[in-house]
Amino acid sequence: MGIVEKYGGLIQKTAQKHPGRARKLMRVGLLYERMRLRVKRGGAIPKALNDLNRLAIRSVARALKNPARAAWVNLFAPVELLQGFGLAPMSIECFTAFAGGFHIEDFLFRRAEAMGMSDTLCSYHKGFLGAVDADLLEKPCASITTTLACDCNANTFRYLSRRAGEDAFIIDIPYENSQSSLSYIAAQLEDLVRLLERRTSKRFDEQALRAALARENEARDLHETCLAMQAKKDYPATLTLHMFKLFATHLLAGSEEVLSYYRALAEDMRCYPDTEALKILWIHLMPYYQPTLKEYFNHNPLYRIVASDFDFDYGCGERLDTNHPLEALARKMAENIYNGPYERKTAAALCTAESLDADGVIHFCHWGCKQSAGGAVEMKRAFDAAGRPFLILDGDGVDRRNDADGQIRTRTEAFFEMVRARK
Ligand code: SF4
Repeated sequence: MGIVEKYGGLIQKTAQKHPGRARKLMRVGLLYERMRLRVKRGGAIPKALNDLNRLAIRSVARALKNPARAAWVNLFAPVELLQGFGLAPMSIECFTAFAGGFHIEDFLFRRAEAMGMSDTLCSYHKGFLGAVDADLLEKPCASITTTLACDCNANTFRYLSRRAGEDAFIIDIPYENSQSSLSYIAAQLEDLVRLLERRTSKRFDEQALRAALARENEARDLHETCLAMQAKKDYPATLTLHMFKLFATHLLAGSEEVLSYYRALAEDMRCYPDTEALKILWIHLMPYYQPTLKEYFNHNPLYRIVASDFDFDYGCGERLDTNHPLEALARKMAENIYNGPYERKTAAALCTAESLDADGVIHFCHWGCKQSAGGAVEMKRAFDAAGRPFLILDGDGVDRRNDADGQIRTRTEAFFEMVRARK
């Protein structure tokens, strides 16, 4: 058993009687990891990704340390608003992934299942619910979710509201993208602003929000430059680092740290040589622990993930209107490719595969995620028609119990053989 597993075992054991101490152990573990990464700078991980890694850890550690200055969110929540109120986001998806990093996810899943949660519930939600039940997460200042993409969110947040005595704010995103939808979402954001004012005793600073959106626009320009470079350069990464990119594209969007990260990334990537690797476009979540996929994508110069759908779900080329910040956030959510018909996501994926000249696409169907399981075949049909290789892999992004390594290895090997021969 490695040191991380032993440490995870200690957290689990402590959590059973002393949740406060277990929370402290988690924070100490994160602090240690940040320090280790600082010392390890200059190793196999590129400098900019090392900085991103530390940024992600700091964000989670901050929310754990001071729950009264944190908000529970899903990936699509309007986090730019939180920054003005000094709140750190704690996302359901990322918390459970971090729990997986500590090897305590199994404990959280069992805890949630003992509460009566179905074993077909998305494991990201199950892990978070288990953590709340085990008191590893304390009541936050607010909890905010959207109805975007996921049929779990509203139910999970409602349940959390009851369990933690905390009224969740659920932003309803209409399926249709129209002017009346935008006004409807913007009105909800105004209500959210009033709620955050009450909870934090702080006045809403519209100027600060405009500045955050301006930074986000600049970051998006740099992000697009980096995606184009990622398709050409031999820039190493790992599945975990690809997953951490969610902090830049989603959870900390609009922050100064993220803008600095993209500036550093663009600079860093230019220094790397060109790549001969097979270029893969990834759809949906990264199973960062999966043994076969780790062999293919962690520091392997022969295979590169050039982008994932979370790199372009807010659309390419679109910029946020800083003169109308709440309306801009409403538009950002309504136009997300996860909203509306699945064809919208398929069209965006096809367009990105073409522009980045991806050799193949892997769609990872996460156990319990109805939207990805339901849409994957539809997307495959479109890619088949366009003559672009497409592989559907079934597995679980974070629950190792649902991993089928043998099947993933056989199918991935055959797929890469076919893609390489074709190339
Ligand atoms: S994986 Fe699917 S079910 Fe789970 S949080 Fe994401 S969208 Fe929702």
